[in-house]
Amino acid sequence: MTERFSLPGFVDAHSHAFQRALRGRSEGGDFWAWREAMLLEAARQTPDTVRRDYAAVYRELRRAGYTAVGEFHYLGVPEARAAVEAAAEAGIELVMLLAAYGRGGIPRFRQRSAAEFLGQVETLRAAEVRVGIAPHSVRACPAEWLEEVGAYAAAESLPLHVHADEQPREIEECLAEHGVRPIELLARTGCLGPTTTVVHATHADANELDLLADAGARVCLCPTTEANLGDGYAPVEALLERGIGICIGSDSNVRIDPLEELRELEGIARRSSGRRNVIPVETLLAFGSTEGAAALGLERWPDVSADLAHPSLAGIDLDDVPGALVFGCAADVFA
Ligand SMILES: [Zn+2]
Repeated sequence: MTERFSLPGFVDAHSHAFQRALRGRSEGGDFWAWREAMLLEAARQTPDTVRRDYAAVYRELRRAGYTAVGEFHYLGVPEARAAVEAAAEAGIELVMLLAAYGRGGIPRFRQRSAAEFLGQVETLRAAEVRVGIAPHSVRACPAEWLEEVGAYAAAESLPLHVHADEQPREIEECLAEHGVRPIELLARTGCLGPTTTVVHATHADANELDLLADAGARVCLCPTTEANLGDGYAPVEALLERGIGICIGSDSNVRIDPLEELRELEGIARRSSGRRNVIPVETLLAFGSTEGAAALGLERWPDVSADLAHPSLAGIDLDDVPGALVFGCAADVFA
């Protein structure tokens, strides 16, 4: 019998499954040009395509060792239900992070008001879908929306996920509109708390990071996507110094491999600090599992196990398997 090494399943705290269709395509000279191609892909989704294509992506996640996923969804309620069915078919735990989208993007993503968005949330909750509140970004949500959905998430103790500080332009636009930076606006509008997860925070400044720490909020880093989109380097050391919880996401699903996400995190920290072992291996593995589960409000999710007979693990002492997984393996060891 093949020996296996068990560990808590990986948790993908930030996925847009439909973006898997863009893998290998090269259009988009920068983030904003890529976004145009992404929006075209989003616009052609229907409940049927979501049901079929998301199931394939979720099977890929499952084979790569992810046993739970937070789907950050801005494609409408029927499509949200289809995503829930796709996850059930693929055997992965799903939390539907339903996006509030007030402006920009594609008209059919948008709700007319924060109240309409919260009505959609209530509809899904009534159908026993596990839901998180996801004001898409300070670009897509006016300040009044942030106040309304932030208050609802706090009152209902629901996870609140929001993109922020992925690209410098978003910060410039927020400063021009509100006179503050995105995470400062989230704090001002009641969207920062212990159930908040800020996705990316790539260009967060010291004050914004202090606000995250004071609130007990988490950050979700998606290093393979952030590299692919030219977002920048996550402020890994500055997050660690402040004790801010970190989880990971496959985001655009250009690459699906939790070990690679974790290796990238430590790689960014090593390159920027000139030191090794900036984040202990056990901590990295916790970022990949328990922190993600906490960010999604999940108490239980399945374990995963690595094949000790896999060539990448040949000759490795049992004590060194966790480190070998992070630094020397790809996700096919979980197959
Ligand atoms: Zn995202």
